[in-house]
Amino acid sequence: MKCHFCERRCDLADGRSFCGNFAEENGKIKERWPDQWCTYSPSRIESVPFYHAYPGSRSMIIGTAGCNFRCRYCSYGFIACKDPAQLQDVMYTIAPEKLVAMAKKMGCHNIVFNVNEPAVSLPSLQRVKKYAEKQDIPMGCLTNGYITPEATQMMAEIFSFVHIGLKGFSDAFYKEFVGIPHIAPILRNIETFSRTCHVEIASPVIEDVNDHELFDIARFIHDIRQDIPWHVFRLLPEHNMKQSVYPNIDRMNQALETSRSLLPYIYFHNFVGSRWVNTLCPGCGEVVIKRFSLGCSGDRLDAFLAPDNTCTCCGTAISMLGTRVGWNDKQTTVWESVI
Ligand SMILES: [Zn+2]
Repeated sequence: MKCHFCERRCDLADGRSFCGNFAEENGKIKERWPDQWCTYSPSRIESVPFYHAYPGSRSMIIGTAGCNFRCRYCSYGFIACKDPAQLQDVMYTIAPEKLVAMAKKMGCHNIVFNVNEPAVSLPSLQRVKKYAEKQDIPMGCLTNGYITPEATQMMAEIFSFVHIGLKGFSDAFYKEFVGIPHIAPILRNIETFSRTCHVEIASPVIEDVNDHELFDIARFIHDIRQDIPWHVFRLLPEHNMKQSVYPNIDRMNQALETSRSLLPYIYFHNFVGSRWVNTLCPGCGEVVIKRFSLGCSGDRLDAFLAPDNTCTCCGTAISMLGTRVGWNDKQTTVWESVI
């Protein structure tokens, strides 16, 4: 029996899936670690980073364990690249209704699956969605996109906003640095998600490895929809690539300036003081959303200058899911009261 969640389509007769989360039981796919989470913590949505969804909102970040990728530079390798069976002492088992109740109690406007790949825990996430919907709590996620068309459909039903990693633009890159043979399913799924969900795209850049593919990525996004926000990360490699140099900021600036003609919403992360964290109006170039970046420590919304998602200078509409949410303005949560 083949697993149908990710494009690896593992043969479950071999015991368990590559990610460690699925097995076969009585002719059905069984989720091995249901309702188990590695974290449930509040964060600003700008730190995820979603820049064009519910600006100013507070998200409850959740994640599980295991992944279908083996990125050589993974920042979460200690949880994503391990067999969940070895992580049982650091996981929390929390029923979906309780997880949603905790999000509410923490004063979170939405729930975002971050850390590892959500496709490896889709049955649990479907259950969370059921309760989140009842409480009007929207759900979003970060995904690597290497999932089957069936799983893409399931995810599009769970998540209304999706951040998809486009880590390079060649089979060669994905083969060498991620451990999968083809990029095609990821490109296919970005197009599928863009038809039904709010989509943002993230591209971590490693100097002299995939920086020459940046313009091709920009052109691909432009051909789907020009208003998809594109987040380029100056990758500070971890895991098995700790010796790699950090990308040169000036060279990256130049490479991204050339892509500005294709995409109005380009952001450049992972260094303190980046001027690429503000949103500029595509019509007149004025700053319409000011953000502050703490480098790897997260971002925050500083000023939202586009009431009703419209530039006050020229009237151009700013692409946005939802409107400004004042959730982080409140002093709502006492963390201890939640537990
Ligand atoms: Zn304007």
